[in-house]
Amino acid sequence: LVPPSAIALDRSFARDVPEMGVPWEAQPVPDPRLLVLNQALAVELGWDPEGLRSGDGLRLLLGNVVPEGATPVAQAYAGHQFGGYSPLLGDGRALLLGEIVDDAGQRLDVHLKGSGRTPFARGGDGLAAVGPMLREYVISEAMHALGIPTTRSLAVVATGQTVRREALLPGAVLTRIASSHLRVGSFEYARSTGDIDLLQRLADHAIARHYPNTAEADNPYLELFEAVLSAQASLVAQWMLVGFIHGVMNTDNMTISGETIDYGPCAFMEAFDPATVFSSIDGGGRYAYGRQPMVAQWNLARLAEALLPLVHEDEQQAVALVVERLTAFPGRYAAAWLAGMRAKLGLPDELNDAVASPLIDDLLALLQKDQVDYTSFFRHLAAAARGDDGPARGLFDDATAFDAWLGRWRDLRPQADAMDRVNPVYIPRNHLVEEALAAGTEGNLDPLARLLEAVANPFHERAGLERYAAPAPSTFGPYETFC
Ligand code: AMP
Ligand code: MG
Ligand code: MG
Repeated sequence: LVPPSAIALDRSFARDVPEMGVPWEAQPVPDPRLLVLNQALAVELGWDPEGLRSGDGLRLLLGNVVPEGATPVAQAYAGHQFGGYSPLLGDGRALLLGEIVDDAGQRLDVHLKGSGRTPFARGGDGLAAVGPMLREYVISEAMHALGIPTTRSLAVVATGQTVRREALLPGAVLTRIASSHLRVGSFEYARSTGDIDLLQRLADHAIARHYPNTAEADNPYLELFEAVLSAQASLVAQWMLVGFIHGVMNTDNMTISGETIDYGPCAFMEAFDPATVFSSIDGGGRYAYGRQPMVAQWNLARLAEALLPLVHEDEQQAVALVVERLTAFPGRYAAAWLAGMRAKLGLPDELNDAVASPLIDDLLALLQKDQVDYTSFFRHLAAAARGDDGPARGLFDDATAFDAWLGRWRDLRPQADAMDRVNPVYIPRNHLVEEALAAGTEGNLDPLARLLEAVANPFHERAGLERYAAPAPSTFGPYETFC
């Protein structure tokens, strides 16, 4: 494990596409305090976690000490936000500190969020508050534990400075680790410059980092598109299967790697309902739970448009090629989702989809009608497979309808143990996240630590953690999230 003084970072992004990064320095922080450190992740990166807790190691987590070889940059990107195009977004309050290359040759971005204004800040203050950075930390780590591709959180450091939001709040910087920060919006930006050489260098950089096999294809850029489409179909299926609502699926918040990124107004659904929206800025429900697959395809269409000049010199032929791939998205998504839902229900592999699909559709209709807690249901159902029907039945108002469904399901001989391996007991429930963030903002990090402990090991039920498995009490009221 290397001490902070020996950490060396590379900068392939700045080498390959220098036009897309502005060298920049993080804002100095006079009085930093470590709020949470991901020891296991630090070790995975080959870094000595103890060294990150104070001194130059802690200052590295703020960008106030820059490792050897690194030149932090604010990355440029564009994006469609709620359907409207912004030609220049970029890291307004974030910096790419540099890249780690691990022993296996895997390259990872070390990125800071909340590190001060950059040339892309527009009207923003460049800062982040403790609460939202702790939210990103806990939810991204929960996603990782659920086996869902995601950016990771290494640390949250309080700055000792205040941030003006609705109220004055304590500020913080999050250190994020990602396989890259290339977004659909990065390609939209490169395309909109009109510089096809830049677009090609960006695509080559993405291929080298994420999909090296596609370099060998007859049409590498079409296969790059296919690879992103495939990764996103799988990712969004996994979101849907755990009830995750991203909340702001703008094209600048959709990665090329297929990792979940940008934990702003995200939240987990409790009562099953495709129309569920938590984000205060999504009144129209564009990014509602049930719309996520469709939105992913819409975003991929924006990626396809950006890639057109690389796909074929003749635009019409390029369009035909990407449209063929794009129209396969719903089928790709549906197959990934159906496989996952079959696993959640413990259905045997031999069972025909023609039997599984209507069974699943009927179940979802029942869950929706009785506003059943989505996460609890699947664990209780595994208990029903073991002979204990009570907990599952208790979730429904209409026990007769549920019993009829249960009989059909049971006749298929579901595998309870297999169900428990894919259906989490512990997700970061909204009321518990809010409780942990409120306490963390006041300087008490114990509720956060306990929540992290529960969600870091989501499939294994433990005594004493009952409150982490239960839905919000009715007194919690309707939930609303903010960017
Ligand atoms: P997001 O909604 O988090 O995806 O952010 C959209 C854009 O707004 C990105 O370009 C961010 O860098 C920028 N942004 C968000 N918050 C701030 C802030 N407090 N200061 C500067 N830029 C910001
Ligand atoms: Mg974003
Ligand atoms: Mg955000």
